[in-house]
Amino acid sequence: LKALKIPTFKGGVVLPENKLNTCHIPTKNISPPKIMTYLMQQQNADFVCEPCVSVGDNILMGQVIGQPFSRDGVPVHSSVSGRVSEIEPRLHPNGDMIQAVVVENNGFDTPAPAIALSRDYRGLSRDEIFSIIRKAGIVDTNGIPTHLKLLSSAEQKIDSIVLNATEAESYLTANHRLLLEKPYEIINGLKIILHALDLNVGHIAIEETKPDVINLLNELASREKDVKIQIVIVKSKHPLHSERQIIDTVLGRKFSPFKQSQDIGVAVIDVQNCRQVYRSVMFGTPLLHKTITVSGNCLGNPLNVNARIGTSFSYIFDNLGGFSSEPKKVITGGPLTGTAVSSLDIPVTKTTYSLLALNNAELPPEEPCIRCGRCVTACPMNLMPAELNIQALNINFENLEKLNISDCIECRTCSYVCPAHRHIAQSINNAKRGGFA
Ligand code: SF4
Ligand code: SF4
Repeated sequence: LKALKIPTFKGGVVLPENKLNTCHIPTKNISPPKIMTYLMQQQNADFVCEPCVSVGDNILMGQVIGQPFSRDGVPVHSSVSGRVSEIEPRLHPNGDMIQAVVVENNGFDTPAPAIALSRDYRGLSRDEIFSIIRKAGIVDTNGIPTHLKLLSSAEQKIDSIVLNATEAESYLTANHRLLLEKPYEIINGLKIILHALDLNVGHIAIEETKPDVINLLNELASREKDVKIQIVIVKSKHPLHSERQIIDTVLGRKFSPFKQSQDIGVAVIDVQNCRQVYRSVMFGTPLLHKTITVSGNCLGNPLNVNARIGTSFSYIFDNLGGFSSEPKKVITGGPLTGTAVSSLDIPVTKTTYSLLALNNAELPPEEPCIRCGRCVTACPMNLMPAELNIQALNINFENLEKLNISDCIECRTCSYVCPAHRHIAQSINNAKRGGFA
C-alpha cells in the first residue's frame, strides 16, 4: 500500500518537540493576584487604547477600562473587580514603557453587565456577531482585532476558513491542551464564524504528532449535521503559525507578500480566538484570560495555565514553584520567534500564549559563511538569507530590496539551520526596521 502523503509546505524546519512534560497534564487555573496591571497597548501597536477610568474608581470584572484611539481598535477590560490604584507607564513585553491602568483586586470578581445576552447564535445577524466580538476585545495572536479580520473576510466574500490548531515551535502545548479540554467550545466558535460568514465548511489543521487530538476532533466533526468540519492532518514543521504556510499546506493556495489571506478567499483563525468567540457570543464574556504554556528547561513544574490578563509573569512562575535553576533568558512567545523579556514585572496581555524560562548556553560566536546553502533550502519564502545577511550588514537597502527583503516573515528558520551561527534573521529584522518597516 502506498503511504498517504502528509501535506506540508516548501522549506521550513522540524524543531525538537520538548512538549511531553506539559501536553499530558491538565491546565491549571491560577487565581489572580492582588495587583493587576492592564497595558493600554494590549495588541498590535496600531490599536492602542487610552484609559477611561480614574485613580480611585471602583470597577467591576469585565468593565471597560481602556477605549481604543482608532475606530478599528478594541477596548481593554478589567479581568478582576477592585479599585484603580494607579495610571502610569509600565513595562511592555516589547521593552517599551506603555500607559497602564493598575487595579487593586478586591477578590470578589463582581461582574459587570454582560456585553451581550446569552442566546442562540443562529438567531444573530452577521453585524450583531461582529459587534459582540469587537465589544469583547478579541484579538488574534498577532494582536489583530478579530472583528476586523472577519469584516474584511465578509467584504471579500471568502470561501474558506482555516482554524490553525498547530503549534510547531518547541515547548508550546497550549493549543494541544485546549483542544483536549475545550473541544466543544472551539468547534462551536468555528461554527459561529462560519454562520457569520455564511459558509458551511471549516478546516481544522492539526499536526500528525497529536493523535489524541486528531481522534477527538474526528469524532466530534463526524457528529456535525449543519456544517462540515474537515480535519486536515499536516506535517509538524516551523513556521506553520504563518498564514502563508498554513494556507499553502491546507488548501494549496499561495499568495504574494503584498496580499492578505482574504484576497485569496481565506481567513485563518487561531484556537484561543475561536474559543473566545464562542464564550463572548454565547455568554457575553469579554476576553479576560489566556491559556499560557509555562515551560522551559529551568522549570521544575512546567504546565499550561489559565491566567487572567493583567497577571504579572513573576506571579505565574511563583505559582508553579519558581525556577529550578536560574534562567539565562525568559521568552514570551515561541523559542524561535518570541521576545526575550528584560523583567518578570510584565503583565499577561491579550497576545500572551507562552512563557519559557531557558538556560540555553549563549549562542556560539558567528563564523564566516561556508556557502552550504542550508538557509536557502530552509527559507519558506524562497529568499536568499545568506545574501540578505551580507547586504543587511553592509546596509545596502537597494540590494536588499532587490532580494525582496520585505517578503521575509521573520520566522528565524535561516538562523536556526545555519552551521556558522550567522545571526541572519536578526540582521534582516534590523534592516527592515531601519529602512523598510
Ligand atoms: S529569510 Fe526570513 S523568511 Fe526566510 S528563513 Fe530567514 S527569517 Fe524566515
Ligand atoms: S546556512 Fe549559514 S553558512 Fe550556510 S549558506 Fe546560509 S549563512 Fe552561509
